[in-house]
This record gives sequence, C-alpha cells and structure tokens, in this order.
Amino acid sequence: MTENPRIIAGIGVGSRGVVAPVATVSPPPAVPADEPAPDDVAAAQGALTDALAAVREDLLARADAAAEPTLGEVLAAAAQMAGDPALAQRAGALIADGSGPATAIDAAVEEFAATFEAIGGPMAERVTDLRSVRDRVVARLTGQSEPGVELREPSVVVARDLSPADTSALDLALVVGIVTEEGGPTSHTAIIAGQLGLPCVVRAEGATGLADGTIVAVDSASGRVVVSPDEATVAALERRGEALAALAEDTADGATADGHGVDLLVNIGTVADAERSAQVPSQGVGLFRTEVLFLEATTAPTVEEQAEAYERVLRAFAGRKVVVRTLDAGADKPLAFAQQDGEENPALGVRGYRLVRTLPDLLADQLAALALAKERAGEDGATLWVMAPMVSTPAEAADFAAAARSAGLATPGVMVEVPAAALRADRVLAEVDFVSLGTNDLAQYTMASDRLLGSLADLLDRWQPAVLELVARTAAAGTAAGRPVGVCGESAGDPLMALVLTGMGVTSLSMSDGSLPEVRFALRSHTLDTCEQMAAAALAAPDGGSARAAVIELLDDEAKAVLAAE
Ligand code: PEP
Ligand code: MG
Repeated sequence: MTENPRIIAGIGVGSRGVVAPVATVSPPPAVPADEPAPDDVAAAQGALTDALAAVREDLLARADAAAEPTLGEVLAAAAQMAGDPALAQRAGALIADGSGPATAIDAAVEEFAATFEAIGGPMAERVTDLRSVRDRVVARLTGQSEPGVELREPSVVVARDLSPADTSALDLALVVGIVTEEGGPTSHTAIIAGQLGLPCVVRAEGATGLADGTIVAVDSASGRVVVSPDEATVAALERRGEALAALAEDTADGATADGHGVDLLVNIGTVADAERSAQVPSQGVGLFRTEVLFLEATTAPTVEEQAEAYERVLRAFAGRKVVVRTLDAGADKPLAFAQQDGEENPALGVRGYRLVRTLPDLLADQLAALALAKERAGEDGATLWVMAPMVSTPAEAADFAAAARSAGLATPGVMVEVPAAALRADRVLAEVDFVSLGTNDLAQYTMASDRLLGSLADLLDRWQPAVLELVARTAAAGTAAGRPVGVCGESAGDPLMALVLTGMGVTSLSMSDGSLPEVRFALRSHTLDTCEQMAAAALAAPDGGSARAAVIELLDDEAKAVLAAE
C-alpha cells in the first residue's frame, strides 16, 4: 500500500466500482516490416482470402455464442467487415502490385479506416472493429498469436482500446472491470461495459503502462483509476457496491420521498432491447430510437416490416407507455436510405424531422406503420406516444402533430434538443401534447461541441450552466402549460442530475435500464422541496463542476455515501 496512491483520471461509465488486479490485453500482432513481395501472387491472394474467411467464420461463431445481444450484434457487424468484398479486392490488388499479404491487408484496412474517420459518427467508431479484423488476419497469416489476454483470476482488463471481437475473446466470468486508454463515453467499450454492468473508465491515459497484477480501484462514478489504493478507498468502494446491489431490490414506481411521482422509463433501440428491458421494473419506454432498427438497411423499410417490429415492442410493454421517436437519421446516425449528399456539416443539415423536406414518404410510412402496429396490438399493447427528433420551431412541431394525428396517433410530441426549441418551449408546447429533452444533442448544439469528440468532454459536461438553463426553461414551460416534459438524454440516468431535473419540474426520466435503481433510490431519498433547492443551487453555480458540487452538498447522508464519489 502506498501513502499517496497514483490516480489515473479518465471518463467513467456508470457508477459502479471494483478493486482487482490488472490484466493487460497483449498488443496487436506486428505487420512484418520487410515482408517480401510474393513469388506466387495467386497463392498469396488465396492465403489472404482464406484468412479473411476464417476470421469471418470465427467472428460469426462468437456472435452466435454471445450471451449478450449487443455484443452479438456488434460481432456480427465485425464479421460483415471481414467478409466485405471491397476490402478483399483492395488488398488483393495491393498483392498484385507487389505487397506481401499481411502488408496488403494492413494498408487496405488503413485506407478504409481513413474513409470511415472522415465520415465521422458511428462509422468512425467502427474503425476499432476494422483494425481488430486486420489484427486477426495478420495473426493468421504470420503465425503470431491473436491479441487477447488469458485471465486466471477476477481481473480489471486494461487495453488501449477494446473491440467487440476482443471483448468476446475474454472469459467474461473473470472480467470485473474495464479500463481503456482510448474510446469515449459512446464507444463500443462503454456501451458493452454498461450492458454487462461492469465498472468502466475510458480515456485513462497511461493505463496500459501498469504491470500485470497491479491492484487498482476502478471508480466509474468519478472516472478514476486508483493504482495501489489505500484501505479507505477500498472500503468506500465496497460499501458503495453493497448499497448499489441492495437498490436493485426496489421495484416501486418513481417518486420523491414525499410522494411526488416522476415516471422512470427506459431507452431502447431494437426489439431485442425491448424484450429484455421489459423484464426490468420501469413504467415503460421513454425513447425508442427507431433508426437503430435500420442502421444496416440499404433501402427504406416497408410499412409492413416496420409495423411488425413496432407491434412486438408494444406487446412487450403491454399496460405501460411507449414513446416512439420517428427516424432520427443523419450526422451521427447515418441511414443509407436517408443519406443527404453534399452537406459539409451534416450535424447541422437535413436530418431528423427535417428529412420531411426531402423524403416525405419516410415519415408518412413510419406513422402509418405505427398506427398499424397499435391497431394490431390493441388491448395487448402499450399506450403509444410518438415524437419527432431535431425539431427547431413551433411550426415544425405543429406540422408533425397534424401528420401524427391524421395518421391516427393521438398523442404527438417533439424532442427539445435544439436550443431554438428550448428557448421557445412555451410555443412549441402549445402545438403538441408533450416534449422530451434530448440533453445529448442539446449540449452539443448549445456548446457547439461535437458530442462524439472525447477531447471536448469538458464543454459537453451535462452540468454546464448554459445547458441547465435551457432545460429549466423548457421544464418551466411544461409546468405552466400543464403538459409533460421528459428527459431522455444521458442526463436522465445520472442520479444527481435526476434530482435537479425533478426540482426543475421534469415529469419523466428515461435512461438505459442499468441506471434505474440508482435514480429510483436518489428520488425516494429526497423530497421535492430538496430537489427544488438542488435545481436552484445548480442553476446559480458559475460552472459545471460547482453545480454538481452544490448538489452533493444538499444530498442526504446515506445518498451521499452511495451516489457521490469524492
Ligand atoms: C439526445 O440527443 O439527447 C437524445 C436522447 O437523442 P440521441 O442521443 O438519440 O440523439
Ligand atoms: Mg438527439
């Protein structure tokens, strides 16, 4: 035990913590620096094709065996990359030009990676998958071992970055935490750690320098990795772990200590998500990101195809509420069939609801499919609300509401995620039955900071006063109009922020299902009056850090021990 434990700061995912020894994932196999030009071009091309096919088969087998649906889906996507004929063709051409097969696949992958990175958003995040395909192919071609780590005891896995394929090669029963030097809060590593309920810190610079076996405390709540932690740090994390485990026992509806109800809802993206999270106690779905269903589709989905998926979701949540968001295509969520050419700034382009300008049938078909699903599920389905993303003006809200109502969808709303909509929330609310704050995009557009850029994480801090002011303004407009105002961005799943949002007048909080127990506990530990004081304190703070600190000051002692990392 050292007196001053070394701390590596990164970005935490969730609020769990763990203390365990480090196991570092071995670096990728090296591409031989002086690989000779092949004597037999056809044979070298054949060896590469065989290696790509074997890697594809292996990834598909792991996708089938994956116990966790998200992991299975991302592995299947990586397998698709290994089977991409364009990649094989490009590498084959490089072999014909005199490159050895390992050099050729390396160069072809880097060319593809550069294109993905230039597109940005989720495509850029796929670069990790692409390079992991390359590593596996190179390992096969050169007889080196595949990247990975053999776990012998419960360990914190440390890696530069962790692709889904790397994750699937781990013995998950022995992984108790994940730390990566790269990746961001929205990277695959973060998503998978969240789904597996593992403590995780990303962007922890220097972590791969830790020797195997070093004891570390991974604290997701504070985003810190404490090297050789002292006893007090270990004891605090253990107490938090026990308290968090106990919270999961509570299945009550969301309410403050004095009984002020706040609906606790889940965010979903697929039918599998819906069927799994329907088992978790919640009051329904606050955000169904329908574009996630069609990320791989090359043509627009038919009404029938959509209705089938929506009906299954409505049935999974029978007796509860499901808020469906119409397709939010564009920028960080590109859909092949809704691509807008020639835009220099897709985040500010024709995306989300604005697609009604260029592809009006998309919205019409989706509303028709939702109406069909609602009719088919009937009494055995959920109560259906529908909302449009990326709405900027009251006129857009009015047009969407009219379209939804005429399709037979009685409860239309819109997302408030553009500052313009938040500033005019009273007028937007006059046109629709509810609004839902998308704090991820609201922060991006208020702070003019790309939400996927880890290096701007400080500006994107959900506690930034300017973002809080817009949220408060929207919530106040909802209270004045007597209409529901939800939050479905990541802010809703932060238990401290959930208290602030409740104090501002927000009526529902929608989050990934893993965050529900802590948010439920935070609410039931405080009265509405305390929440209002917290909201006032956060709004009065000069910056994000002090806003959060001011809320921690007002926490009840037990809640402070469980929820607030020092
Ligand atoms: C948001 O922007 O906060 C939101 C919930 O939508 P998405 O993250 O899907 O853009
Ligand atoms: Mg959004």
